[in-house]
Amino acid sequence: MTALFQNYNRRPIHLVKGQGSYVWDEQEKKYLDFTSGIAVLALGHCSPILVQAMKEQSEKLWHTSNLFTNTEQEKLAASLVKDTHLAHGFFCNSGTEANEAAIKLARKHTKKHKMITFINSFHGRTFGAMSATGQEKVHSGFGPIVETFEYLPFNDVKALQAAADEDTAAIMLEVVQGEGGVNPVTPEFAQAIQTICDEKGILLIVDEVQTGIARTGTRFAFEQTALKPNIVTLAKGLGGGFPIGAMLGTADLFDSFSAGTHGSTFGGNQMAVAIAQTVIDTTFNETFLENVQASASYLKEQLALHIPQAEIRGMGLLVGLGLKQPIPQVVEACEQAGMLVVGAGTSTLRLLPPLNVSKEEIDEAVAILKEILVEKQVVTE
Ligand SMILES: *Cc1c(COP(=O)(O)O)cnc(C)c1O
Repeated sequence: MTALFQNYNRRPIHLVKGQGSYVWDEQEKKYLDFTSGIAVLALGHCSPILVQAMKEQSEKLWHTSNLFTNTEQEKLAASLVKDTHLAHGFFCNSGTEANEAAIKLARKHTKKHKMITFINSFHGRTFGAMSATGQEKVHSGFGPIVETFEYLPFNDVKALQAAADEDTAAIMLEVVQGEGGVNPVTPEFAQAIQTICDEKGILLIVDEVQTGIARTGTRFAFEQTALKPNIVTLAKGLGGGFPIGAMLGTADLFDSFSAGTHGSTFGGNQMAVAIAQTVIDTTFNETFLENVQASASYLKEQLALHIPQAEIRGMGLLVGLGLKQPIPQVVEACEQAGMLVVGAGTSTLRLLPPLNVSKEEIDEAVAILKEILVEKQVVTE
């Protein structure tokens, strides 16, 4: 018997301790963690500066709700939009909530409800975000979903041109489809989306829940594309392991999210904000971003060199290895060899190291993958 609902396919590993890029299970077996809690641990496990920020804040003030002025939230929002075309922020607790806020704001602002999202996207599990998600298996069994989403093939300019019109409130996409298989938007598609949004007055929502907070080597992944979103959603890396989500938007949207339109009891509480501010102060910095880019280049170069059969996709430290071997078996073989990885889509292994991963740790990861996939071929096609 179990006291838990069995809504997760959990690996049978009980982790009890973490430091940097490593975790230990209850038998004290050590693993190199290239999941980072699914792109959450931007600075690795138990980062000393985050531990410090949390300790300090925990003795001052944890939570007041949003009944009161919150200057720290104001500062965090300002840090997130600094040197971008975005102007305002709203805080919540997760990625799905950030997307709910985005969907509500886009509907409220445009007074329209048709939205375009893409096949194999992932936007979350609550009703709006689940309905936005372009995957049948995510909707299955829940009855009528929010009906106003239209799912188009990703990176298909013609399909988009045919579907987007003056009735469309918003187009929503991930710069790299994360859960759906590590599929980056093509430069042509990003350009086409932006042109259509400009021409038809459609809002652009970029879901950066997985790609944001330096994961791709820039603060936000959209900065490397032609996309100029009206709304950006964030979560995963933002709190470095502490739950917090955010929605950022342009100045013209300000009046549409007026008092009483949306809210969250926990969203942006003092504890979450103190930790997220430390994450942002650390990651939104030229040197840090250059290091992420250098680590990403090194990782991809080593993977290409040592695992020639893999199709390497992704941006920055969101890396997908397209493999012919069955992904669940590869994940299990990696665990046996002392490394944690996660799948994406049906035939992709996803590598999500902490953003401050070292060269030695990358070498260790590539050596484990090489042994499993190339040398000893622990898992065959
Ligand atoms: C993980 C994810 C979400 C959902 O975030 P939760 O915090 O699990 O609600 C939404 N969008 C993208 C792109 C994600 O990767």
